[in-house]
Amino acid sequence: MTRSNSAGRRLVHAALLATFAATSPLLAADDRFSGVEVQAVHVSGPVHMLTGAGGNIAVSVGDDGVLMVDDQFLPLAERIQEAIDELGGERPKFLLNTHYHGDHVGGNPHFGQAATIIAHHNVRSRLAGNADLPSVALPVVTFADGLSLHFNGDEIALLHLPAGHTDGDSAVWFKSANVLHLGDQLFSGRFPYIDLDAGGTVQGYAANLAAVLEQAPSDVRIIPGHGPLGSLEAVREALSVIRATRAKVAQAIADGTGIEAIIQTGLGSEYADWGSGFINEERWIRILARDIEAAGR
Ligand SMILES: [Zn+2]
Ligand SMILES: [Zn+2]
Repeated sequence: MTRSNSAGRRLVHAALLATFAATSPLLAADDRFSGVEVQAVHVSGPVHMLTGAGGNIAVSVGDDGVLMVDDQFLPLAERIQEAIDELGGERPKFLLNTHYHGDHVGGNPHFGQAATIIAHHNVRSRLAGNADLPSVALPVVTFADGLSLHFNGDEIALLHLPAGHTDGDSAVWFKSANVLHLGDQLFSGRFPYIDLDAGGTVQGYAANLAAVLEQAPSDVRIIPGHGPLGSLEAVREALSVIRATRAKVAQAIADGTGIEAIIQTGLGSEYADWGSGFINEERWIRILARDIEAAGR
């Protein structure tokens, strides 16, 4: 690549950044990213996990080039690319979006200039509804149930997880490397955010976790959407906490307890750590109550 090309790209990128800073409330406070460092941890084979701010990123770096899963926030794009460069990579050829939330697809306007973006149909339709997004930020290849990429000596399978976190989530399974990126179908060690306004349901979320436990190899490495790299143990714990807390809130509602009283009483000290993240105990109880009401039980 020539210097003038990369300078040109930087200009385009600067213009995009300026546009986004002006139009997107998510990026209005760019300084919230000023201290963020993007760090890489090796997972297995060609697969690395990148952390910064927002959802965990996976990259496969090898002879075929770079494939990336999710891209956090636009102001971090250059730092994410630098971390990939340090792993010996170049600009990603493929970008897989686990779902449409801004902390996972914020970098699409940057990375979509060079990469083919792939995601579930509903990711594209939801992103296309955002008039602020340029067309390069939209998935080019979309699917209903799943598809496989054959890249860096691995089969990388995208598997749709219906009506869980949203209605358009996919897990990404690096079969040879034995790594599974679950996106926001897993918030490791904390209550999950479930987007009930975007087709998510608590029952679906639990069913998806149960399906992962049934079908994934027992020694698979798990990259959660949020939280540390882990194993199926994190999935098992999350499923058990979600089922137990949903049953508890459903029982309280059936007994005629009001939502504010349920919040007042709380879920129990055994869940104290689970409510320490983005979704505190009150928000989780409200999600559960709304889901139980919608499901009729
Ligand atoms: Zn997220
Ligand atoms: Zn999300």
